[in-house]
Amino acid sequence: MKSHVICLRVAFLIAAVLAANSVFAGQGPVKRDFDAEIRAALQSAKNAAGFEFLGTLARTCLLPQSGGEDTRDNVPGYVTNPAGAPARDTWYAEPARVFDNLYFVGGKVHSAWALTTSEGIILIDTIFPYNSEELIVAGMRKVGLDPANIKYVLISHAHADHIGGAEMLQKRYGARVVMGAPDWDQVAKFPNRFKTMAPARDIVADDGMKITLGGSTVTIWLTPGHTPGTLSYTFSVMDRGKPVNVAYSGGTAFNFVNSTPDPGIRNFQIYIDSQRTMAARAAASGATVLISNHTEFDNAVNRNRMLAGRGSGPHPYELGADWVKRYFDVTQSCARAAQLGLEQKRDSANP
Ligand SMILES: [Zn+2]
Repeated sequence: MKSHVICLRVAFLIAAVLAANSVFAGQGPVKRDFDAEIRAALQSAKNAAGFEFLGTLARTCLLPQSGGEDTRDNVPGYVTNPAGAPARDTWYAEPARVFDNLYFVGGKVHSAWALTTSEGIILIDTIFPYNSEELIVAGMRKVGLDPANIKYVLISHAHADHIGGAEMLQKRYGARVVMGAPDWDQVAKFPNRFKTMAPARDIVADDGMKITLGGSTVTIWLTPGHTPGTLSYTFSVMDRGKPVNVAYSGGTAFNFVNSTPDPGIRNFQIYIDSQRTMAARAAASGATVLISNHTEFDNAVNRNRMLAGRGSGPHPYELGADWVKRYFDVTQSCARAAQLGLEQKRDSANP
């Protein structure tokens, strides 16, 4: 009996060795099937997006990417000639009270959020110089907030569609401005590009830094990728008196050198690591709401419209922890698919 078992084991071993040899015989080193790996990453992104994050999927998996930061230092056309700014109907959206203490004061495309506390307001992002006056200052007044109460302005990253109103808000209301160190440096380096948008260097964000005002705390997380200084946040809001945890993602598109294996592969890894870390931060904070700074990523404008018809139903922004995770699965998988494309390019150049 015993020898029979040993015989069987030997037979299996021989079969396994033969099978392995037949797979690799004459093929040299194993070739990775990059096309299959890319297809799998894209499929994971699609599965994660479902119908909730189609905008995020489109931006990170399907649409052409910018390929890197602009290295020129030119004054934007809408600053030299304000009459040439995009027409109002391309950007205007109504402000909205989204939670008891969180207001949307953004536009059709870009978001700004006002977190109200008993000691003033924390404003998250400031849109462009040409529409921050109407969307943020007038928008806040329209929903009953006084912009003079803005105490902190958090800038997700130093691009004109997010930092545009920061200089004005700092000068006019004395608001403290918070931004990531590399993005403060960018603003200093490109005085023309950031003309009228450059707040005086103020608070430099650290990972895990807490901005606390009137009993509300926004925790800042460094999520380099979209820009080297991109910030994301976790914080709590109230929904009809019930606390709800929010994760805010501060940079989504692949706005870095992403067309060449070096430094593209490394840049994608920085992005992927940030998304993974932020997903963990969001989960640890118990976030059931995901918001962003572009309405294409969180459907803010549509969700704002749904608020009026909510009745006693669920909050239109409250998707649950699993969907918050899935947002970061989309961005990670799309970045991985693009990174695999560069690995394929690298390996085919050095076979
Ligand atoms: Zn940006």
